[in-house]
Amino acid sequence: MATLRFHALKQVHRHKPIHIEEKVRRSEIFGANVFNETTMRQYLTKEAFQSVMDAISKGSKIDRSIADHISTGMKEWAISKNATHYTHWFQPLTGATAEKHDAFFETIGSGLAIEKFEGGQLVQQEPDASSFPNGGIRNTFEARGYTAWDPTSPAFIYGTTLCIPTVFVAYTGEALDYKTPLLRALQAVDSAAVAVCKYFDKNVKKVNASLGWEQEYFLIDSGLAMSRPDIVLTGRTLLGHSAAKGQQLDDHYFGTIPNRAMAFMRDLETESMLLGIPVKTRHNEVAPNQFELAPIYEEANLAVDHNSLLMDVMDKIAGRHNFKVLFHEKPFAGVNGSGKHNNWSLSTNTGINLLSPGKTPMSNLQFLTFFINTIKAVYDNEELLRASIASASNDHRLGANEAPPAIISVFIGAQLTKVLNELENVTDGKLSPQEKTDLKLNVVGKIPDVLLDNTDRNRTSPFAFTGNKFEFRAVGSTANCANPMTVLNSIVAQQLIDFREEVEGLISEKTMKKDDAIFNVLREYIKASKNILFEGNGYGDEWEKEAKKRGLSNNKTTPEALKAKVSKKAIRLFEELGVMNKVESEARYEIEVEEYALRIQIEGRVLADIARNHVVPTAVKYQNILIENVKGLKEIYGASFKKLAKEQLNLIEQISSHIEGINSKVTKMTDERKKANTVENLEKKAHLYCNKVKPLFEDIRYHCDKLELLVDDELWPLTKYRELLFTY
Ligand code: ADP
Ligand code: MG
Repeated sequence: MATLRFHALKQVHRHKPIHIEEKVRRSEIFGANVFNETTMRQYLTKEAFQSVMDAISKGSKIDRSIADHISTGMKEWAISKNATHYTHWFQPLTGATAEKHDAFFETIGSGLAIEKFEGGQLVQQEPDASSFPNGGIRNTFEARGYTAWDPTSPAFIYGTTLCIPTVFVAYTGEALDYKTPLLRALQAVDSAAVAVCKYFDKNVKKVNASLGWEQEYFLIDSGLAMSRPDIVLTGRTLLGHSAAKGQQLDDHYFGTIPNRAMAFMRDLETESMLLGIPVKTRHNEVAPNQFELAPIYEEANLAVDHNSLLMDVMDKIAGRHNFKVLFHEKPFAGVNGSGKHNNWSLSTNTGINLLSPGKTPMSNLQFLTFFINTIKAVYDNEELLRASIASASNDHRLGANEAPPAIISVFIGAQLTKVLNELENVTDGKLSPQEKTDLKLNVVGKIPDVLLDNTDRNRTSPFAFTGNKFEFRAVGSTANCANPMTVLNSIVAQQLIDFREEVEGLISEKTMKKDDAIFNVLREYIKASKNILFEGNGYGDEWEKEAKKRGLSNNKTTPEALKAKVSKKAIRLFEELGVMNKVESEARYEIEVEEYALRIQIEGRVLADIARNHVVPTAVKYQNILIENVKGLKEIYGASFKKLAKEQLNLIEQISSHIEGINSKVTKMTDERKKANTVENLEKKAHLYCNKVKPLFEDIRYHCDKLELLVDDELWPLTKYRELLFTY
C-alpha cells in the first residue's frame, strides 16, 4: 500500500520512547533560564535592580539611562547562557506568540565585531507589523506599531534567544495585542479591590489577580497526524467514523500514562522548569490519548504569558518525540474535547486570598464581600463573559452537549448557598446590636475554612466556586487566557467600584455604620443576582428551559456570542475602566468575527477536498472491484448470479447513494460559500458561514463516514479513528 496512512502506521512502532535522564532536582533548575530576582541581583547595579522592582510592584517608569544598565546586565547574563539573539516576545491578536530575532552581534569597522544590546533596544522595538490583525486600527500609511517592554513579566532564554515580554501597540496608542488590555484590567481590579479592602484592613496596598490554568490536549503520533489533511490544516478531524471503542469503559482517565507520552511529559516538564513555568500536575484525561497539565497558580499576567509560552514549548518538544499536540477544543467527534479551566482568585500584599474564607467573622465578611461581588459581576455581565471565550473551535464544546453549556451560571455549593440564603434575610436598614452579633457569630462566623462540599464539584458548571477560587471552566483549550482574564477582572473591578459607592452612599446618607452598610448592600446583591446561581445538571434540557425563564443568555454560536463585545454596555465598561476605548473594542470584535468566517471557510475547503478527492475516488475504486466481481459471477453462474452477488449488489447501490449524497452536499456547500464570499460586511459573512455553510459539514461527513464502513480497509486512504486514538 502506498498511501500515507499505511506508511505512517508502519512507522509508528519504530518510535520508541526517548529516555530522558534526570540527574538534578527540579527545584534546582527551576527558573535557570529566567532573568528573575536572584539573577537580577547578580547582574544589575543596585539602582537598576531597584528600579525594575519598583516597576513591578508600583508600576513606576524606568528611566532611560537606567534602562541602559539593565540591558547591559541582561545581555551579560544571556551571553553567559549561550544566547546569541534577542527578541521582543508578544501576543498579537492571532492568539499565537510572535517573535523576530535580532543578533547581539554588531560590526564596529576594521573587520571587528562586538555583542551589543542597548537600553533603547530593550525598551522599545518596531517590528514590521503590517501583517498582524488590527481590525482596521492602522490604515496602510500608518501601518506601524511598536512593542514595549513589560517589566512585570521577566525576560527568559528560549533556545538561544533572549525573549523580552512586551506589549504591542499602534503608534496612535491603541492596543494591538492581548497583553495591553489585560495589564490595564489588572490595574483596574487592583485599585478597586484595594479600596474595598480598606474596609477590613488598612494595611492592604496591592491586590493581585491570580490565575492557575489547566491545559488539556491530545497527543497523536506525528506521522499519523500528518497523514490527515484535516488535522494538518484545521487542527481537528472533519470526518472519520468512531472507533468501536471510545471512552465508554472509562479506562483512560487517571490511568497509567503510556511510556511514550510519559517521556514527552518529562522532557516538557524539564524545559518548563528551566523557563520558570511551575508545572505541577499531569494526568490522563477522559478521552483516549487526551492529557492534562497544570501549574501552580501565579500572578495573572505572568500566568497568561506562561500558558502561551508553554503551548509553544509543547509543540516543539512534541516534535522531538514524534508526537503532534492537538490543542483544538474538539479534535475527534464522539469523545471528549479539551478545555482550559481558568482558576481565578484575588490576593493581597498582606498575604490574604480574598476568596478564601478566614478564621474570624471579620475576615469572613471580607471573603463574602468579594465572593458576592464576583457573583454579581458575572450575573450582570454573563453575555460578555460568554463572548470572551467564543471561537469557532470552542463552539464544538459549549452548548454542543459537552461540558459546559453555552449558558453562563455560577455554582457555589450547598454550604455557601445556605449562607447566602441567611444573609438575604438581613433586616433592611440599620441592624440591632443583637442582630449584628448573631449574624457575625452564627452566619458569617460559621463559614468553615475548608468548604467540604466544594471538593465534590459540579463538573457541569461553567463557572464554579471551588473552595478558595472561582474556576472558569468554559474557556477553550486553544484560547489565550488573556481574553477571558481581561473580561473577568474588568467586570469585577467595575462591580467593586459600584459596591464601594453604594456602601459610602449608605454611610453618608443614612448615617449607617460601615458593617450595616456592607450587610445591606450585600443583601441587595444576593437578591438581584440570584438567577445566575445554579447547582443542578448543566447538560440537561431542563436547564436550558429554566435558564431561559431566568432571562439568562444562551448564545450557542460564536457570531451570536461575540455581539456582546460591542454592546453599549460593554464599550462603556471598558472605556470607564480605561481597559479599552471604543475603537479598540470594535477592532477586536471585527478581528474575531472575521477570524470565525476564515476558520469555517478553511474547514469547508478542506472537507470538500477530502470528500471529493480522497473519499469519492476510493469509493469508486472499491465499487469497480465489486462490479468486476458481480460480472464474473454472472459469467460463471448465469441467471442465478443474483442470489450469489446479493451483498455485492447491495454494496454497489449503497456506495452510489453515498457518492451522490457527497456530490450534492459538496456542491451545495460550495454554492453557499461563494454566496458568503460576495458579502462585504464581516458580521453578515460570519453569520452566513455559521448558518448556511457549517451545517452542511455534518451531512457531508455522514456520507463519508458511512463509506468508511463500507469500503475495503486496504483501500481507505485516511488514517482511522482507532488508529489515531489507540496507536502509539
Ligand atoms: P482540579 O480542578 O483539576 O481538581 P486543582 O484543584 O488541583 O485541580 O487546581 C487546579 C488549578 O487551580 C491549579 O493550576 C492550581 O494552581 C490552581 N489554583 C489553586 N488555588 C488557586 C487560587 N487560590 N487561585 C488561582 N488558582 C488556584
Ligand atoms: Mg479544574
